[in-house]
Amino acid sequence: MNSTAQFAYLNGQIVPWNDAKVHVFAPVTKYGIGVFEGIRGYWNKDARQMYLFRLAEHLDRFAFSRKAMRFDLGPSREELTEALVSLCRANAFCTTVHIRMMAFIDGTGDIGATGPVGIAITALPRQSAQGSIQGASAQISSWMRMPDNVMPARIKANANYHNARLATMQAQRDGYDVAFLLNTRGKLAEAPATCVFMVRDGQLITPSGTNDILESITRQTVIELARSHFGLLTVERDVDRTELILADEVFHCGTGAEIAPVTSIDRIPVGNGQPGIKTQQLMEVYGAVATGKNGAYALWRTPVF
Ligand code: PMP
Repeated sequence: MNSTAQFAYLNGQIVPWNDAKVHVFAPVTKYGIGVFEGIRGYWNKDARQMYLFRLAEHLDRFAFSRKAMRFDLGPSREELTEALVSLCRANAFCTTVHIRMMAFIDGTGDIGATGPVGIAITALPRQSAQGSIQGASAQISSWMRMPDNVMPARIKANANYHNARLATMQAQRDGYDVAFLLNTRGKLAEAPATCVFMVRDGQLITPSGTNDILESITRQTVIELARSHFGLLTVERDVDRTELILADEVFHCGTGAEIAPVTSIDRIPVGNGQPGIKTQQLMEVYGAVATGKNGAYALWRTPVF
């Protein structure tokens, strides 16, 4: 299989990309028993440095995901950090990358297996999208975000993404860029791989953590940057679908997508149909902090080289 990376990490070793394999009978392939993280490494060409953004928070969530899915104890934070840094160094990346850190049930067990826990890490070049401010069209999906007492919504369990996949496919086939999922109470939850914010009457508003959303790290970053850079406090509460249409600005955010403006919902323009001012300001600060061009929040950036 062709890849833009030479190496991957699997179970304690840096291996050639094509050798990073799992047996077809493992519980991860039989039942999707895995959890993962999506992390970004930002290349700062002036410093000739790659910064892993919010690695500590990603490792916390990775541990929480494994605990919630009752996985046996796996490698420590230090071992995982070492593995990730070694992989980025082995691939000698001088570019921004997207990293997947995966824990999965390997071996030959059945649905109740809690180990052996396999660990795999991949990193592939993926440019930051923060430079472009094209607005996305969103569809309110007919799929509902699964509630937390059906699937563990607040963690990154692989099987959760069947729900995300169905909503994404529906949106794409209907000609939209992104799906927005309501929860089973009919309130806004999130998009398949991002959390949603709106700006209304000068307030920044986002669904609260008990609306069946992933405990998103970018969501926390946005809340913090809005407060520290713009004095804007975020209200975390239930959001009705029609509020999105009345909003002045809507954007969605996640590690991979970063911050992206949404300019229409169900083909109805949001505000004046253009990416909003506050959205653009947040995008700029986010990009500068993540790449280290803005020196604030140094603890959020783990250097690789
Ligand atoms: N929701 C879902 C379902 C996701 O997969 C992601 C991406 N990890 C997000 C929200 C955004 O989370 P984060 O900011 O931690 O990347």
